[in-house]
Amino acid sequence: MTKWVYNFGDGSAEGEASMKNLLGGKGANLAEMSNLGLPVPPGFTITTEVCTSYYDNDNTYPADLADQVAASIKVIEETVGAKFGDEENPLLVSVRSGARVSMPGMMDTVLNLGLNDVTVKALAKQSGDERFAYDSYRRFIQMYSDVVLGVDHYLFEELLEIHKEENGFTLDTELEAEDWKELSAAFKAKAEDELGRPFPQDVNEQLWGAIDAVFGSWMIERAFVYRRLHNIPHTWGTAVNVQSMVFGNMGDDCATGVAFTRDPSTGENTYYGEYLINAQGEDVVAGIRTPQNLTKASRIAAGSDMPSMEESMPEVYGQLADVFQKLEAHYRDMQDIEFTVQKQKLWILQTRSGKRTAPAALKIAVEMVHDDIISKDEALLRVDPGALDQLLHPTLDPDAARDVLTKGLPASPGAASGKVVFTADEAEILSKNGEDVILVRIETSPEDIHGMHAARGILTSRGGMTSHAAVVARGMGRPCVSGAGSLHINMAEQTITVDGRVINNHDIITIDGGNGEVMAGKVATIKPELGGHFGELMAWADDKRELKVRTNAETPLDASAAREFGAEGIGLCRTEHMFFDATRIINVRQMIMSSDEEGRRAALDKLLPDQRSDFVELFTIMKGLPVTVRLLDPPLHEFLPHKEEDFVDVANAMGVDMAFLKRRAEELHEFNPMLGHRGCRLGISFPEIYEMQARAIIEAALEVSKTLGEAVIPEIMVPLVGSAKELEILKELIIKTADEIIEASGEKLEYMVGTMIELPRAALQAGEIANHAEFFSFGTNDLTQTTYGISRDDSARFLDDYLKADIYDQDPFVSLDQDGVGELVKIGVERGRNTRNDLKVGICGEHGGDPASVEFCHRNGLDYVSCSPYRVPIARLAAAQAVLRK
Ligand code: PEP
Ligand code: MG
Repeated sequence: MTKWVYNFGDGSAEGEASMKNLLGGKGANLAEMSNLGLPVPPGFTITTEVCTSYYDNDNTYPADLADQVAASIKVIEETVGAKFGDEENPLLVSVRSGARVSMPGMMDTVLNLGLNDVTVKALAKQSGDERFAYDSYRRFIQMYSDVVLGVDHYLFEELLEIHKEENGFTLDTELEAEDWKELSAAFKAKAEDELGRPFPQDVNEQLWGAIDAVFGSWMIERAFVYRRLHNIPHTWGTAVNVQSMVFGNMGDDCATGVAFTRDPSTGENTYYGEYLINAQGEDVVAGIRTPQNLTKASRIAAGSDMPSMEESMPEVYGQLADVFQKLEAHYRDMQDIEFTVQKQKLWILQTRSGKRTAPAALKIAVEMVHDDIISKDEALLRVDPGALDQLLHPTLDPDAARDVLTKGLPASPGAASGKVVFTADEAEILSKNGEDVILVRIETSPEDIHGMHAARGILTSRGGMTSHAAVVARGMGRPCVSGAGSLHINMAEQTITVDGRVINNHDIITIDGGNGEVMAGKVATIKPELGGHFGELMAWADDKRELKVRTNAETPLDASAAREFGAEGIGLCRTEHMFFDATRIINVRQMIMSSDEEGRRAALDKLLPDQRSDFVELFTIMKGLPVTVRLLDPPLHEFLPHKEEDFVDVANAMGVDMAFLKRRAEELHEFNPMLGHRGCRLGISFPEIYEMQARAIIEAALEVSKTLGEAVIPEIMVPLVGSAKELEILKELIIKTADEIIEASGEKLEYMVGTMIELPRAALQAGEIANHAEFFSFGTNDLTQTTYGISRDDSARFLDDYLKADIYDQDPFVSLDQDGVGELVKIGVERGRNTRNDLKVGICGEHGGDPASVEFCHRNGLDYVSCSPYRVPIARLAAAQAVLRK
């Protein structure tokens, strides 16, 4: 016979903490606390297997469940000396849901279950407090009707308000027993009205109604969405906890509260919490009365004159503090605890590892190592790498008011306020005058880079998590909200309309790239503090990890920032970003517009010194660490002039007429540029471009090797290769160029030539390609785009539908699709290394900074990951966790 129900309480339990999968988090911890001898009201847990079975069998329960529940009710009855539904001495219970992990969205709690027209009288008699009994009854009718029967709680509150108004009451505490009696009758009538049948008086019907509601709530939309957002499988199911009631609202020697064993927002090692005298649990959360501080110190700090629990109930507070110590020592983690005091007796209703902010997680983990509570390895696993972002960027002051206009994608973390501007040029002009601006675009393009750099933050109405705006903003460490689709941006009129509100040019807005919110006006921010704990945890991570962590950077600013965050080299320098500088773009345009090699070479000669000096700067900052420079990648038309005056400038510089230029621009137009004339195809068509870039790299490496007195070993990378022959041809060109320069210099210089793997064909042909490549770098942005056949720039529009329909469980541009794209990565690594066993392999798509993808890279033997500077610490910690989880 399967055991579906587990008892707990009274100093022992049938379950324990390790049985979370079966009993849910709440049930397992109630069992564990019972085993520890803590005062836990007796009860039982119906397992998550019942939930799974319920859904597998057309919403029906296992045949023997009812008997097991009845037997467990008996156990509670014997323990507390009361009987469920008894006329004299009734047992009342609470019913709560409890999945493996705490999961908002599901049915939460029903209290006081077991009350009816008869038992309420017994409760009044027993407690000697009729007011308490009928207050409890009306609460039960309201709560049960709301969460189990689906009658809106507002309807009951309305009745209460009317009653108070008619009788001249303002506070609930002014109501007498008679009032609550009258109201509970009115509540019952209201429920009957709404339901078309009487409010259930049978206590067993009440109990099974509540159990049904918990299991039913596992599949409601809210819970479904929550699971999707947090990657919780739908197959886990929830448990149900039925527990005898204890009352915090039986008089002034009663109380209820919530506490943390440390401060969950700062991580400070002090008790933190709130309580209310003469109240039931939901009063603390619902905000009907303002809760009081738990400790005297926090009361004084808050400037409150309402006594703390430490002062008003010193003895019970002392017991509670003992429980805090016991639970934290036992679980070896900060605990979030719910308690009730019934007539000076303390009861513990729940404990769990407390949710905490990123700074608190860091502080608690490191301090627990210092105090010998946990090991360094455990500490590394206690901090969510993704949350480290929060520590590196300014964030919004949590206490500041927010006027939220809309929400887009949290494309690049950090918060920023500034004047709305609609063009990159204006962003640059205003910021030069010392003003903070937010650059607002429908979407950005490489032409906007100078404006993105000048802006405090970037907001777009189109584009996904790997759209140009998102990638570039993350690289620069600029906060960015992308794909905020409900914003209507009118570039001509320079307005944003959202929900009928209009934001004009130069109005101030605030964006939070951490959660995607866009707000009107300025919201105060707080600066990051990179104190000692951060450095300490990072050092432990570095000791543990096997993957190297590099950065994607092309500006000295980004490269230096990345070094500070611990980058061990550059894994991707996108050279095209260097082409957009205002003084260079004219030469770039001249190169593109030339219709022959001679014209292109003339323009490239002008670009050479600038490219060389860029590389000199990067090599100098990286001081001998590896630097991978990628040759030109994007389709040429991205550099084309748009405005009339730009055309005029180019025409003048080239000495050609406008008609010729316009025709040339049209010739370069492509219907599908992402799959068009880009990447190494440019090198095949116009070898002189790659030749110039190879020259710039080698000359810079020679120069810096000399000045540093240390060898710089550049890695020259060819993008978007699909067949071995492409690389063979281009490698020959690169080697010829490089060797001539090196020979002429009379110096020695090592360099490497490798390729990106960004196309499915490249992964499949990796064995042949590796004949010509000394390293591979997986460009998983393009590899995802080309494997799925979905555009990285346009997918935001429909991705949400796919996520909602559970077709994708996450955005494949954010976290590597390990089953599909990941298979290609595995094949690429395996075939590449079969040909060349010392092949160096890395990843430089956005996934290089995503913790789950980093773990994948570790498992599959990559040598390094490369990510934007602000993600370097995330990757360092994720790489350490990957080792610990293996
Ligand atoms: C990639 O495709 O993953 C990549 C790193 O290159 P880019 O994002 O510049 O196309
Ligand atoms: Mg690419």
